[in-house]
Parts: sequence; structure tokens; C-alpha cells
Amino acid sequence: MKKHFYLILIIFFLTIAFAGLAFWRDNSGENKNEKTKIIFLDIGQGDAALIDISKDTQILIDGGDGKDILNKLGEHLPLYDRKIELVIMTHPDKDHIGGLVEVLKYYEVEQILETGIKCEKAICEEWDKLIEEKNIPVKYAEFGQRIKAGNIEMAVLYPFESLKDKEVKDSNDASIVLKLVVDLEQGLQPERAEILFTGDAGFPVEKDLISQNINLEAKILKVSHHGSKYGTSNEFLKSVKPEKAIISVGKNSYGHPAQELLNRLKNMNIEIFRTDEMGDWILGY
Ligand SMILES: [Zn+2]
Repeated sequence: MKKHFYLILIIFFLTIAFAGLAFWRDNSGENKNEKTKIIFLDIGQGDAALIDISKDTQILIDGGDGKDILNKLGEHLPLYDRKIELVIMTHPDKDHIGGLVEVLKYYEVEQILETGIKCEKAICEEWDKLIEEKNIPVKYAEFGQRIKAGNIEMAVLYPFESLKDKEVKDSNDASIVLKLVVDLEQGLQPERAEILFTGDAGFPVEKDLISQNINLEAKILKVSHHGSKYGTSNEFLKSVKPEKAIISVGKNSYGHPAQELLNRLKNMNIEIFRTDEMGDWILGY
């Protein structure tokens, strides 16, 4: 009788232990409770945006110039997370690719999206060499490509066709343009937001996008080229209809952001956020 009693007791405790384990796994495995964040990093004069999907998958769009990006990623990612699932390099100008080269050195990057335009600068050679050494798969951007992960979806709007190995006059106008759709949990209810990333694209790209009747509407616009007056035209703003605009900018001698551009945004009652004034801008908290 006593033997039976102990056996039942052991089975009882084992059942509780397994139930506890299952509960623990359910909570830690898929990070369902973690919110997706979009962080426009204050990287000085340059661009860098981190899309942190439920603390599980990270996408980095550009990396600013130099090593600062490593400190920034360290601030926002846990120490043990040394993997970035996707790195998007909009175009190979130093204030976008410079930091990404450092990211390739110190992080495990699972995949890269870039345009592949011809680039003979030393920084491009370093970039290509690291990709080869680390055997990272590369995709070349063209209209229609879609990226889905967790509660985000992203679509490539520009370039219309692959620019791989093509020589371009102005690398800014070969920037990858992306539209991100995300359910941000900022309050009690998830709020759907579209974010348009424009790299450093100028008027010619905007004209092309408008003439192709592409749906550019987005609540949030990452203003092109650090607030240059040669981008973000009134026509473009009328097509995008943003409520908020983020300008990624630092100390510079180019006059970024241009007063002309700031006036265009103000005239349309678009709320302006600037990384040089407010530091990192975090969406989804
Ligand atoms: Zn730039």
C-alpha cells in the first residue's frame, strides 16, 4: 500500500514538473509577448534604422559611418544576440555602408540585400571581401521583392530592375526604397503603420515612383538624404501623405537639413523628428 502511495506521489510531481517546463518553453520560445520596435538610430551624419521584431529577428537598414553603430546595437540588443538576420545596404556611400562593414566584422549576418551597383571605392572592396570570407548570401534589390518576418512586411519599391554591376551616375539615385508595414503596439491596441525608407534618393527617383503610380502612402517618412533640399518634393509629399517625418542627420557641412525642406514639411503640417535633436527615435514601446 505504502509503495503505491509513493509511486502516485512521484507521478504527481513529475506531471507538475513537465507542465511547468511546457509553460516555461511556451513563454520563452517564440517571444510572443515581446513588442516589435523600429529604432531610428542617432548615428551622427548618416542613416541607420534597426527593426527589432519581437526580440527575435533583427533587420538593419544602413549603418551610418564607422564604428558608432556597434555601440548603438549594443544599447538596443541583448549581449548574447550577435546575429542580425538581414542587413539592407541602400547604397554604398560611406555614411550608410561604413558602419555596415563593422557590423559584418562583429556580427553574424544571415543575409544581405543591396543593389550591387558598380563601386570601386576601398570601402566597397572591404564590404565585398567580408561577404566572400563569411559566405553571406546576397540578394539584389528590385521592385516587387517582399520580406516577411513576425508582424512586419516590407516591399522593395525601387530600383525597378536589378542594378547589379551597373554603373550609375549618382549612387544616391540608386538607393533602395522600401515600404514597411508593421503592427506597432504603442498602447493597448496595435496600431498599423507604414514607414517609407528612401535612402538618399533625390527628385529623379521620386518622379519615377510617382509616374509608375506606385502606392507610396505611409504614415511615417524617413526623409531622404538627411534632409537635403534636392529630395522630398511637394509632389512626393502629396503622394506619401505622411503624418510624421524623421530626419537622420548629424553635424555636417552640407547644410542638412535644408530650411527649404523643413518648410515643405511644415507647410503640410507634418510632424518633424530629428536624430540630431532627440537622439534615437523609437517606435513601439
Ligand atoms: Zn547619406
